[in-house]
Amino acid sequence: MIDELQILWHYARARYRPVPRSRRDLEAWQAKRFQAFARRTLSRSPFYAPYVGRPLEDYPVIDKSRMVADFDTMNTRKLRREAILDLALASERSRDFKPLLHGISVGLSSGTSGNRGLFAVSPTERRLYVGAILAKCLPGSILRRYRIALLLRANNTLYEEASKGGRISYRFFDLVRPIGDICADLDAYQPDIIIGPPQSLRLVAEAQAAGRLAIKPVKIISSAEVLDDIDRRRIGAVFGRPIDQIYQATEGFLGAACRHGTIHLNEDFIHVEKRWIDRASGRFMPIVTDFTRCTQPIVRYRLDDILVARDTPCPCGSIHLGIARIEGRFDDILAAPSRTHDRLVPIMPDFIRDALAHAHDVIADYRIIQRDPAHIDIQLSSPEPSHAFAIAQQRLAAAIGRFDVLMPAFRNLGAIETSALRKVRRVERRFPVKLEDLWPASS
Ligand SMILES: [Zn+2]
Repeated sequence: MIDELQILWHYARARYRPVPRSRRDLEAWQAKRFQAFARRTLSRSPFYAPYVGRPLEDYPVIDKSRMVADFDTMNTRKLRREAILDLALASERSRDFKPLLHGISVGLSSGTSGNRGLFAVSPTERRLYVGAILAKCLPGSILRRYRIALLLRANNTLYEEASKGGRISYRFFDLVRPIGDICADLDAYQPDIIIGPPQSLRLVAEAQAAGRLAIKPVKIISSAEVLDDIDRRRIGAVFGRPIDQIYQATEGFLGAACRHGTIHLNEDFIHVEKRWIDRASGRFMPIVTDFTRCTQPIVRYRLDDILVARDTPCPCGSIHLGIARIEGRFDDILAAPSRTHDRLVPIMPDFIRDALAHAHDVIADYRIIQRDPAHIDIQLSSPEPSHAFAIAQQRLAAAIGRFDVLMPAFRNLGAIETSALRKVRRVERRFPVKLEDLWPASS
């Protein structure tokens, strides 16, 4: 009950507090807020304490590997990376996600082994997080009763707030279980709101279409970095309603779509700088400072996501930065050798997705994997696989042919293996490329 009241309070605060009216007011307010955050929180971090009192731009830009390497000195609770790794790996094996480290929920972000981030979140931070999501996403008033189904790859106590009895009930559905069991439980639960990564929403939609469950959610929220059109269309068609989107990562709750479908970054509690990769098209990687994170400070943290800024104000009137779309991760950018220069040319994943999206009568789904600059591997799901491969190859060659590159060879890797557990990345590069090699920092 205490938890629910606290969440309601955070909800009300996030929703109704006075907001700055212009970008200038917002930036001035954020600068003040950052200094207060530095005095209150960063002064307790051995890594950040020497910077307190200085402007934000004096702080170092951090990426995931730096965050992992310097975790022990960055956090404000004397948590140790080794202890978190041991605990997180043990909980993943036992699928018992209750254990806490000194009252703090800890875990590893999803990702390939060796490339996983760490997170540490206190109970207060969890309530803020749930309150903020409710404030940005709930249709109508929070005073209604809602049953919310959260489909997640790995449970964490982070998500177990507001789960008992009250107005807002949450239930967690562990995607490690068979999809048939998940659907049976969803059918029994009859959620008003479903939040989950797009591929699990898609599996639920396919089960609903096949008559294996009958739920009537009033809101469907995709909670990953990228919601591909191929999934948006299918899920929307099955449930007869548009799909909402929140933008969240291990690094926190970063943005939510408004009624016009624009994702606005949560600049009421995060500050965002742009590391431009291409100003002309609005593409940038966000460098985030989060004023709500007091255990593991997120200060000038560069995400691997590529966002495309809107070039016009959103009709909803929000002054928070509007994102036309989230294009993907840096590792989703393919790279092929230039025909005329000794360098690699980036091929943005949207070109690849667009090339294949319009062939959806033959290609139900696809995976494009580039393991080296000279080859592109294709996996397809289709009733007519060889015809689909011919079409995919032709569409991709046409899309890539618009760039000044040596055409990679296409290889047919057969059918896709789907799993609700694994994060779907339809377009993926699996060899390392440096950000600076594709876009020098000065551009
Ligand atoms: Zn808007």
